[in-house]
Amino acid sequence: MKIKLGVSACVIGEKVRFDSGHKRSNFVCSELTDFVEYVPVCPEMAIGLPVPRPTIRLLEHDDQIRLVDTKNNEIDHTEKMVRFSEDKANQLSQMDLCGYVVCAKSPTCGMERVKVYRENGYVAAEKIGVGLYTKALMEKMPWLPIEEDGRLNDPVLKENFVFRLFALRDFYDSMSEGITRRAIIEFHSRYKLILMAHCPREYRELGSFVAKISEYDIDEFYLEYRTRFMQALAQRASRKNNTNVLMHLQGYFKRSLDKQQKAELAKLILAYRVGEMPLLVPLTLINHHLSLYPDAYIASQKYLKPYPDSLRLRYGL
Ligand code: SF4
Repeated sequence: MKIKLGVSACVIGEKVRFDSGHKRSNFVCSELTDFVEYVPVCPEMAIGLPVPRPTIRLLEHDDQIRLVDTKNNEIDHTEKMVRFSEDKANQLSQMDLCGYVVCAKSPTCGMERVKVYRENGYVAAEKIGVGLYTKALMEKMPWLPIEEDGRLNDPVLKENFVFRLFALRDFYDSMSEGITRRAIIEFHSRYKLILMAHCPREYRELGSFVAKISEYDIDEFYLEYRTRFMQALAQRASRKNNTNVLMHLQGYFKRSLDKQQKAELAKLILAYRVGEMPLLVPLTLINHHLSLYPDAYIASQKYLKPYPDSLRLRYGL
């Protein structure tokens, strides 16, 4: 099943911007296209603004953030936009949406550092603004991976975002025959090494949470687990944590490998640890050993293959 990806309509090339242009992202439209089903939304058009249209901006007014016409503060779109955004976020939260790519800097769709103006025309000192629509998405779906188009040019942010799309799709697929304790426990088991790499604290705490699953209402457990799991994955896997996971994996082969093979693997892990090699190198050798010395638990771990190799995302890590 394809991954449902919410997207600012201009990011997939729709000419919906104020100047009748678009902000097509090559990564979203080309590299991801085989794996995703787009759910495009242009909130400004959805509230009835035309194309082309006068520009709008965020304005600090009486300790509130308003969405107003750039040239005339009296033309205020805030209420309409907030109402639309809350309704749309509610609707999207009922779908198996796995992520969202929003357009940077927009007073409607921007995710961070959107300019907020003062009434004197100056920009407020800290660029703390969030587009009104994206703010509603983040509040309604704290588990959802959301990224800006521009940030996806960073290989580390891109890998983490795509990895979370596939993880959330896997989570929904795992529950496709019903939300059961068994389905959650099996899913959690496959992601143990991923959690260890991304957030050792949540690896421990989610482990205890899952161990007590029978004490919870399953629907409440599902909601809390989804948010905590996805927020843990949003943290970047550090080189130190990845090294710990590689050494953990190495331990599974201690009886199978001879002295020379062990030394070779240890050398690659160390080379990764000090930044001389990408993660892919020791992982390739571990996958090779796994094909020679199968282990059901290790083979089940998503850490070894979190998304299709054809995306080529682990080369720069
Ligand atoms: S940034 Fe958002 S509101 Fe602006 S054109 Fe793109 S989709 Fe529409």
